[in-house]
Amino acid sequence: MTDRTDRIDRTERPEAVGESGSAGGPVAPTGEGTADSPSTEVTCAQCGRLIPPGEWVRTESKTFCSSCYARLRATVEAVVAQQSQDINYGGAVVGGLLGGLLGALIWWGFTVLTHVSFGLVAIVIGIGVGKGVVMLSGGKHARSLQAISVVIAIASFIMATYWVNRTFILQAAAGQGIEGTLPFIPDVRLLIDIVTLDLGIFDAVFLGIAVWQSWKIPMPVRLGPR
Ligand SMILES: [Zn+2]
Repeated sequence: MTDRTDRIDRTERPEAVGESGSAGGPVAPTGEGTADSPSTEVTCAQCGRLIPPGEWVRTESKTFCSSCYARLRATVEAVVAQQSQDINYGGAVVGGLLGGLLGALIWWGFTVLTHVSFGLVAIVIGIGVGKGVVMLSGGKHARSLQAISVVIAIASFIMATYWVNRTFILQAAAGQGIEGTLPFIPDVRLLIDIVTLDLGIFDAVFLGIAVWQSWKIPMPVRLGPR
């Protein structure tokens, strides 16, 4: 006699867990008794309920039932609308000017310390202006703020260029034993003369980078299509 019992190998049939019907076609209702194990059921990422076929709304990462989606969408739309309302324009201008001044001083300081006029540092002007505009406008983002930001960034870039050139001119003059000075705040004529001293293609590139930063930071968020 063998120990061996006649075991009938009940080869467990693997349940069809396959992702065969992956959300492609409509799931045909199969009548009663199937509520236990529908394999293609989709639950709402928000309320957790089972979503009837055809009522899903897929976003980039999640799936919602249509009513949850509508509610979330309305919330997001309200937030997006809010970003361009009740703008403190006075604050925006002050913030932009302060940020631009700070950026210009950083660039100028960098140049004085290193004796190198590294134009790419002008990017801090654009960032300073953009951040300043957003912060003091009440955390707002709008086209109008972008326009304010760009104008201030250009003005700040021009002033910073003046200060940088002024420093180099005075250093060069001092090196030759020439006593002289240039005002820290120039009149328009002097500003133009000094700023245009040695303008090159790179100045345009660096100005472009600063302007792009100042344009980008107050840019309003746009919602995609429904
Ligand atoms: Zn839901």
